[in-house]
Amino acid sequence: MKQRGTYMKTRVTKLLGIEHPVIQGGMQWVSKAELASAVSEAGGLGILTALTQPGPEDLVKEIRRMRAMTVKPFGVNLTLLPTLKPVPYMDYVEAMISENIRIVETAGRSPEEFMPRFLDAGITVIHKCTSVRHAVKAQKIGCAAASVDGFECAGHPGEDDIPGLVLLPLAADALSIPIIASGGFADGRGLAAALSLGADGINMGTRFLATKEAPVHDNVKKALVDADERKSALILRTLKNSARIYKNSVADEILALEGRGTITIEELAPLVSGARGRTVYETGDIEAGVWSAGMVAGLIRDIPTVRDLVTRIVREAEDIIANRLKNMIG
Ligand code: NAD
Repeated sequence: MKQRGTYMKTRVTKLLGIEHPVIQGGMQWVSKAELASAVSEAGGLGILTALTQPGPEDLVKEIRRMRAMTVKPFGVNLTLLPTLKPVPYMDYVEAMISENIRIVETAGRSPEEFMPRFLDAGITVIHKCTSVRHAVKAQKIGCAAASVDGFECAGHPGEDDIPGLVLLPLAADALSIPIIASGGFADGRGLAAALSLGADGINMGTRFLATKEAPVHDNVKKALVDADERKSALILRTLKNSARIYKNSVADEILALEGRGTITIEELAPLVSGARGRTVYETGDIEAGVWSAGMVAGLIRDIPTVRDLVTRIVREAEDIIANRLKNMIG
């Protein structure tokens, strides 16, 4: 192991007080204390997902569980997207503040209405977004970093369909705050590429789903190892709320219904419901509902521990930068 102080340093490691520029994505039903604490303990930034908890009081309990597992920095994700049932977002925000959370990741839509509360509490807000214009707005309203999510990503890629290779340098040109590259990252090649494109770190969801510590059934992890890069589907395009999920029989059913033309969320709800998707993670029946997975599944070939994964990624990126790329010069 390297000695402390010799780690790769970026604006993101400095901003967040972490050792490695690797952040774990806010995954609904997955980003619980088991996974997030393992990522923080490995020197990255673990993130709990607020809406995975049924209510704000459960989030408080989860934050306390997390603190019993790690003393290292971690964050809480608050996803602001359409939901089948109303969500008391401000109550979740107050729960985070009451627990003295220092880092929040917002996603889905502008966090503007919550920013005064976050900033008053001295919270570092990372906003995850899928376009340069939204990242610029995030900077303007006081976010400390932008997590820029390319079209490759799992979950909600927005409606512009711009992959990271174009989105990241455009964001780097437009922003002065640090950038976290999100969507399509799984290895050291991706980390080195992200840094080259102007980002200061990477965010990974799907890759962390296939780790020993991810609190989901082994069948889900095995499905990711078996999947190639074509094994994701984009649903809810017709409702302008696109979501990239694992391409199973439920995804095919949804796509067939959407392909017929106008369809309402009420008609799709029994298929797309997150509560149903949750049973996939719990029971291991990967056909039981929808579950998020990115194109990056094609790059996932093993189920390592979080520590082994983070160490491998950072070492590989350092090797690429210090040797492969350097040797090309001169
Ligand atoms: P849910 O069961 O409330 O909804 C299921 C799906 O339908 C979600 O994709 C949701 O965005 C969509 N949806 C709901 N109402 C809609 C409407 N009126 N119009 C268009 N689309 C609608 O969701 P859940 O699984 O309980 O998740 C809670 C929240 O977290 C949702 O907003 C979901 O999108 C979000 N989420 C985010 C990620 C991610 O990318 N990080 C992953 C999974 C879920």
